[in-house]
Amino acid sequence: MKAVYIEEHGGPEVLRYGERPEPAVGDQDALVRVRASALNRLDTYVRAGARGQRRKFPPPLILGGDSAGEVVEVGPGAPERLVGRRVVINPRVSCGTCAFCLAGDDDLCPGFRFLGSNRDGSYAEFVSLPAVNVHVIDDGVSFEEAAAAPTVYLPMWNMLIRKAQLRPWETVLVLSASAGVGGAAIQVAKNVIGARVIATTSSREKAAKALEVGADHVIDYTAEDVTARVKELTGGHGVDVVVDHVGAKFFEAAYNSLKRGGRYGVCGVTTGYMTQLQLGTLFTKQLRVFGVFMGCKEDMRQMVDALNRGIIKPVIHQTLPLEEAAQAHRLMEGRGFFGKLLLRV
Ligand SMILES: [Zn+2]
Repeated sequence: MKAVYIEEHGGPEVLRYGERPEPAVGDQDALVRVRASALNRLDTYVRAGARGQRRKFPPPLILGGDSAGEVVEVGPGAPERLVGRRVVINPRVSCGTCAFCLAGDDDLCPGFRFLGSNRDGSYAEFVSLPAVNVHVIDDGVSFEEAAAAPTVYLPMWNMLIRKAQLRPWETVLVLSASAGVGGAAIQVAKNVIGARVIATTSSREKAAKALEVGADHVIDYTAEDVTARVKELTGGHGVDVVVDHVGAKFFEAAYNSLKRGGRYGVCGVTTGYMTQLQLGTLFTKQLRVFGVFMGCKEDMRQMVDALNRGIIKPVIHQTLPLEEAAQAHRLMEGRGFFGKLLLRV
């Protein structure tokens, strides 16, 4: 089959487009003919061997996590009814047998594997994975939209719905709205929960798009003081919840924007992972800082239902053919996009 894989770490030029063997289908597995695969920051870290993503080669590694396609075959222990269905896949494969998995907290599974990171991924014509990781999508949802969803919406389900329990009468600050996670955070806060959304971004064009996606207010962090502007927009109170997927660079400004009793969720550290935490305000203002990484199977089930009903709709910046994966990685490493970058397979 055709696939995009790496045999060494490096820049976008190490991405090879060529032939790889079709994956084996295990007893409980589904074999998916991939139609669209979405890029995530993780893909670029794996390619570069950065942020704990160094691999031993050989064998080559096929990159790619998020994807959607059609089930063409299932193992003898997997449900036959999946064959022929259009599906989106959950790229995080948990062990299913540890204490966390048994409790339904499979987002905490220590034995998890991630497609395109420590097992072959979805920048390929076929991907094989446990059938429990495959979810049927409605005809109204395109393969591109479905593929764009899991890695950006799952952390938001986990963070805003399950952990922070954001309420319709509350206000959330979403950092860097132009990234895939930023757009997902705005939609979950607005369309699913009904909360008020303040988003930050870096240009007038991106601000207009953030408003289009559902933000009530946008702060240009290159021109405005984020903390002061948040205070102004909230009558001096601050926000109830912060969604932080960027880390070090904006932590202080966002942390200082929290209301008493506020919750600060972290699901990514693209600008750096070291920062200082003011422990005095942490306890006197009774704040909560917490992290999420992807979501559990039940988050995925709910997210796919919302996708099928059109409550959420991933923002797609551009779709490129699979063979142009290197160009897609270059785009991702720049800052000139709003929403998700996809590969058509
Ligand atoms: Zn487990």
